[in-house]
Amino acid sequence: MNRAESRLQMVARQIKARGVSDHRVLAAMGKVQRHEFVADNQQASAYGDHPLPIGEGQTISQPYMVASMTESLGLDGCERVLEIGTGSGYQAAVLAELAREVISIERIESLAARARTRIDNLGYKNVTVIVADGTLGWPDQAPYQGILVTAGAPLVPKPLLEQLDIGGKLVIPVGKRQTQLVEIHTRTGPEDYDTRHETACRFVDLIGKYGW
Ligand code: SAM
Repeated sequence: MNRAESRLQMVARQIKARGVSDHRVLAAMGKVQRHEFVADNQQASAYGDHPLPIGEGQTISQPYMVASMTESLGLDGCERVLEIGTGSGYQAAVLAELAREVISIERIESLAARARTRIDNLGYKNVTVIVADGTLGWPDQAPYQGILVTAGAPLVPKPLLEQLDIGGKLVIPVGKRQTQLVEIHTRTGPEDYDTRHETACRFVDLIGKYGW
């Protein structure tokens, strides 16, 4: 099976079969070349149903988690989206297919540099990768119509709620170090948020002022 076939099989068996149905998300997952975001010695596993190591003790998330959390943002293509935890850059590329602009923050400089190179080489012009503590958000470009956190937080960082646009959604794994639940916070008014709890998951730590 070649990589394009592996990708289509990943979408059908791991993502669609588990209930992700947004056609734009399925198309983006079928398009973004996940193998470009993993190391040479991980190529055979690039389309497997699991996270993979990317160095510095960090991981590229399981394809299903990427698709499911992306679907929860409910993007239609007009949004400015903030991602916390660039890692390999894969999730940022998926978001770049679905939103107008993506700002992605990574705390580890070497990962950010590698992700930037990959994203540039693949021709994405609507992604900015920044090295910073993402638990503070990125107030310069707020408000965001979507915020996606791809590391596990002990509590929801207050700056992220504050930087959400009215109608925007914050998708974030929250819980203990070993296991979290994906929470979806929709800002319904200046001081009002609607909260839903979704899938159980296990992410690496969100480290920072409002993290671990
Ligand atoms: N989205 C990534 C991808 O597509 O490869 C996977 C992210 S990995 C599971 C979590 C990432 O969050 C790690 O690269 C880690 O360094 C980063 N991280 C943890 N705390 C952070 C913080 N406060 N600000 C920015 N990045 C952070």
